[in-house]
Amino acid sequence: MDREIERKGILMGHYCRICSRPRPNEAFSGRGHKIHVCKECASLPQEEREAVEREEEIFGYMCQSHISDKNVARLTVLAGSGNPRIAELAGVVLEVARVRPYKRRRLKVLARERRDLLEKLDRTGLILAHGG
Ligand SMILES: [Zn+2]
Repeated sequence: MDREIERKGILMGHYCRICSRPRPNEAFSGRGHKIHVCKECASLPQEEREAVEREEEIFGYMCQSHISDKNVARLTVLAGSGNPRIAELAGVVLEVARVRPYKRRRLKVLARERRDLLEKLDRTGLILAHGG
């Protein structure tokens, strides 16, 4: 695609929820537009799409100021996922929720009391969701 058209298209387009790429309007079908999933991603196997969504969900819990009991219940389900990456991520966030459900001072507490967990956050990339 011509760069100029591509740039304009992106300006008018959306970010795809699955691949996180800014995509022009033409990259979405009618239904895809509504749910912000581009055509390419819409043709991925259901499992792959779900895995991306679950991963996003788990990263989302790390961004929250507090991981609630309801979130913990959900994470417990996800920790039993057949997808090893999802199961691992959910397991790590579950542990975090047990040690420090509140985001405030979480990394400090973990650095002092749970180096191992802090390292897991680092290795999985979850620490990025926590932010500063
Ligand atoms: Zn996409």
